[in-house]
Amino acid sequence: MGFGRYVGDMESFHFEGVEILPGTGAEVSLSLGDGPTGNPRSIPVYIIHGTNPGPVLTLTAGIHGDELNGVSVVHHLIHGDDHIADTEDDAIAKEKLSGTLICVPVVNIEGMLLEQRAAPDNKDINRLFPGKENGNQSQRIAYALFERVVKYSDYLIDLHSAPHSRTNLPHVRANFDDKDCMKLARAFGTQIILHSVGPKGSLRRTAVSEGIPTILLEAGTAHRFEMDAVYCGIEGVLNVMGKLGMIERKNRLPAVRLLVRKSKWARAESGGLLYALVQAGDHVEKGQKIALVTDPLGAQTHTIESPRTGVIVGMALNPLIRAGDPIANIVVCSAAKWKRAQSETSPEDPEEEAIDDEEALDDA
Ligand SMILES: [Zn+2]
Repeated sequence: MGFGRYVGDMESFHFEGVEILPGTGAEVSLSLGDGPTGNPRSIPVYIIHGTNPGPVLTLTAGIHGDELNGVSVVHHLIHGDDHIADTEDDAIAKEKLSGTLICVPVVNIEGMLLEQRAAPDNKDINRLFPGKENGNQSQRIAYALFERVVKYSDYLIDLHSAPHSRTNLPHVRANFDDKDCMKLARAFGTQIILHSVGPKGSLRRTAVSEGIPTILLEAGTAHRFEMDAVYCGIEGVLNVMGKLGMIERKNRLPAVRLLVRKSKWARAESGGLLYALVQAGDHVEKGQKIALVTDPLGAQTHTIESPRTGVIVGMALNPLIRAGDPIANIVVCSAAKWKRAQSETSPEDPEEEAIDDEEALDDA
C-alpha cells in the first residue's frame, strides 16, 4: 500500500494507479472525463515521494483560474529557479525528503485557459467542496480533488492571490481557534496572519472540518507572475516543510508578527477614478491621504484618508470606483513595529501582537 496518512518507511507511494518509488518524483493526472471536443480533461499532479517516513503535505494552486502566483510557487518548488527537473537548484532534494509532497499547480485548468476565476460553468469551485460525485461539472472537480487528493493529506496549503481588481501584501489566512492550523500559519513566516475560517464550501474550511490542518496564502494579484509574491510563497512552504520535519532547514521568521482577528477597509464614499498614493506593504498614519479620486476629465473631486494608523495589507488596483468600494485594507500597527517586522528576523519565537479591529475579513 502506501497511499495514506503518514506513509513512508521506504514504501512506494501509490496514486491513481501509478507507483512512485521512494526518492523520486512523478507526474500523474487526475482524470475528469472528456471535454467538448472529446479532449481528455484532467488536473496535473506532481508527487515528490521522500526516502524517509513523514507527513503527506499537499499544495493546491489555481482553484481560481486567474490566480497565477501560486501556480508559480508550485513550479519553483518542483523544479527550482531554472525550471529544469533534477538539477542542483531544485528546492527539494528528493533523496533527503521525509514524507511526501503532493503538488497540484493548477486545479481549475479550464478557468486558467479562459483567464477567469470560475470554472467554465461560471461557478466558483472554492465554494463547492467537498463536491459531488454526480453533481455539475464544478462539483465534480471539487469532488475529484477532495476525494482523490485532499483526503489522503495530513496537511494542506492552498495558494491564492487577490482578484484582478485588488492586490494583497503576501499574508497567511488561518483559523486562529485551531492550534494545528496556527502551527502551520506561524511556521509559514509572513509578518501578518489574518484570522478567518474561510467561506462555506471553501477547500480550506472543508479540509479543516475533516481534520486536515490547512492554511491559505494570499499573495499579490491575479493574471500575473509577481516574483516577490512568488518567492514569499516558496519560502513559506519550505518553512512549513522544515517545521514538519520533511526537510532540514533553518527557518528565518520575522521578529514581529501581527495576528489579526479583524482589520478595516477604507472605502470610497463616492465614485470616480482612483489614483492610489500608497501601495500594499506601506505604513500609513491616521488621516493620511491614501488616494485621490477624479472626475472623467481628471480633475480631483475628493480624497480618501486612512481611517487608522497601520499597514496596507490589501489595495484596490481598478481605478473605476463606486461608493462603498473597498480601497485599502489597513491593519492597525505602529510605524516602529512594522519597521521591525520587516527588517529583523528571529530564528524561532517572534514577538506577537494580537489585533482586533472592527470589521471581519470577508466583508470586502
Ligand atoms: Zn483565490
